[in-house]
Amino acid sequence: MTDDIIAIDGPAGSGKSSVARLLADRLGWSVLDTGAMYRAVTSEALHLGLAPDDTGAVARVAQRSLIETRPRVSINGRDVHDEIRSDVVNVAVSVVAANPAVRAAMVQRQRAIAADEPGGLVVEGRDITTVVFPHARVKVYLTASLDERARRRGEEGGESVARRDHADSSRETSPLRQAEDAIALDTTGLSVDQVVEEIVRCLKNTTSD
Ligand code: C5P
Repeated sequence: MTDDIIAIDGPAGSGKSSVARLLADRLGWSVLDTGAMYRAVTSEALHLGLAPDDTGAVARVAQRSLIETRPRVSINGRDVHDEIRSDVVNVAVSVVAANPAVRAAMVQRQRAIAADEPGGLVVEGRDITTVVFPHARVKVYLTASLDERARRRGEEGGESVARRDHADSSRETSPLRQAEDAIALDTTGLSVDQVVEEIVRCLKNTTSD
């Protein structure tokens, strides 16, 4: 298992995906978008005609499916790269992600991916610093104002972002929260480059300890 893990959590639109991708590029590390995994399971469940709250059946989908996130997102060989960003998936994904058996299956896979990673890995999601990799070398919690996060998602008013914030932060299993020892970065008004610079600086500090 690689010891070189940078774990990034934060709400929708906080900049996690863009920051994680650029950061990984800059360091020559791999990147894992765990939101894409929950989205792929959601998309497959809907494709099979399951209700998102059919906990047993959706858990079986999570346990049995082959999920790839790079270079494109696919599940059981079906390319869902674009479909996972659709409105139906946006609405259903928080329900699927609140299912404890789905979470257990995803966490197990995410740790297995890290175990197989020969180099460094940047991982982003909602429970990465708190549950999946609490001993990551650098732990970051990204935030931004609701207005800015809604704007980044191309959404007027921010209702759907706010709804997902609420669902992700109030669920019983692994709710979104800032780990006590995570570095909090408010990205409102910052460029992706600036946030990446700050995280690289934190990483260098860990090396010199
Ligand atoms: O990051 P993204 O918006 O793609 O995540 C989609 C949804 O997946 C989140 O709203 C959340 O419900 C769920 N998720 C999660 N845990 C993660 C990553 C995503 O619960 N580690």
